[in-house]
Amino acid sequence: MEKEVKLYDTYQGKVVPFKSLVPGVVSCYYCGPTVYNYVHIGNLRPVLVFDLLYRVLTECGYKVHMISNYTDIDDKIIKKAQEEKKSEKELSDFYIQAYEDNLSKLNIASVEYHPRVSDYIPQIADFIQAIIDKGYAYKVASGDVYFSVGDDPYYGSLSKTKVDDLIAGSRVEIGDEKKSPLDFALWKNTSDTGIKFDTKIGLGRPGWHTECVVMINSYFHTPLIDIHGGGFDLKFPHHENEMAQDWAYSGQRLANFWMHVGFLELNGDKMSKSLGNVVLAKDAIAKFGGNALREFFLTTNYRSPINYTPEAMETAVTEVEKYRRLLNKFEAKFALENKDFTSDFDKGSYDEFLSFLADDLNVANALTVLEKINKKANALLRNPAASVNELSMAYNTYKKMLSVLGFAFEPMQVSEEDRKLYKDYQKAREEKDFASSDKLRPLLMEKGLL
Ligand code: AMP
Ligand code: ZN
Repeated sequence: MEKEVKLYDTYQGKVVPFKSLVPGVVSCYYCGPTVYNYVHIGNLRPVLVFDLLYRVLTECGYKVHMISNYTDIDDKIIKKAQEEKKSEKELSDFYIQAYEDNLSKLNIASVEYHPRVSDYIPQIADFIQAIIDKGYAYKVASGDVYFSVGDDPYYGSLSKTKVDDLIAGSRVEIGDEKKSPLDFALWKNTSDTGIKFDTKIGLGRPGWHTECVVMINSYFHTPLIDIHGGGFDLKFPHHENEMAQDWAYSGQRLANFWMHVGFLELNGDKMSKSLGNVVLAKDAIAKFGGNALREFFLTTNYRSPINYTPEAMETAVTEVEKYRRLLNKFEAKFALENKDFTSDFDKGSYDEFLSFLADDLNVANALTVLEKINKKANALLRNPAASVNELSMAYNTYKKMLSVLGFAFEPMQVSEEDRKLYKDYQKAREEKDFASSDKLRPLLMEKGLL
């Protein structure tokens, strides 16, 4: 039986109990990057939030299938490839590799498949043709295909956008082939020099809003999945347009839960490629480490904006060091004393911790439980009468909690020299040779062995 989970659903506009379509199984998709340059740390925020969601749902008893796409067909990719005299594939392969390198350094365990748009062109063409056949899309003289927004009575219901206001605020350009200014392109016919595909609906490229719907339908074999999401900016028009197409195609609304992650900001502005105010993910990871970046993002509620400052990153580094040091102290103690950990953990505390996370990913409250375990663990380490099982329980509980949050730490390695130092220290203490033990203690502490 799965533990109760609550999530904020953008569509309903409130936190509601989560119920999966298939008992015990969750299907989830979040929109991934357009792969034409190195991603910035803002792009990593949804990645880390969905990774946490994956871990929490898994701990709550669900089998989670999570996928996230690479947009590898896009005008920006074509432009950059031409500038660099490369094929679009060479360019996107390079940046996909760079992105995946970030994911592994961030210990992202969640994504089981990264579909690429270029692998789904025939399915996209079939899908667009089906929408034309159903009367919700139309082909214009140039061969481009547009979705007819006015024919969807629910349009705007996800992002709470009023269609009339949108129409009032826009104007159809003279010579524009669209019937309504809100209509969006599903397909662009072209004979330009960029990558293009010869399909049943013409020679050209798909519009951005169709790919995720088609990849969801293809991978999950259903037009309705449990959770779909991405950053706040995707609510409108991207997700609204995705929902409209899925509805036109199948009568479904693509996802039962829509989750949107707040912006990472820099001095009050959204960090974005177009504004140029970016900190590249690879640079931040090299400087602060994957754990610190994770800590930085997880300590603010995932729906709130978060401001990037070097000071906030330093705080995250310090906090992560605290986690590592405590784990390593236990590992050193057990190795030096030739003891084995038992497998027990504090079920009550762990359950409290998980319940907070299961309440719409309330990391702040979960961290208060982690902090209590930290205090208790340190007290046990200072207590010579603490039993192996008591120590093991504190260690295992702490480690388990950190692992649900997605942190990864190298276990402490103890050398022969360390063992000798520790033995000498213990001997000095037993013999009440405090001059020697006082000399050895700082050495041991410096090595993280005490
Ligand atoms: P893009 O490559 O711009 O399409 O973005 C890929 C993902 O990163 C999307 O889910 C965006 O919503 C998300 N994203 C981009 N910039 C930010 C930001 N500053 N804060 C949070 N998420 C962002
Ligand atoms: Zn998408």
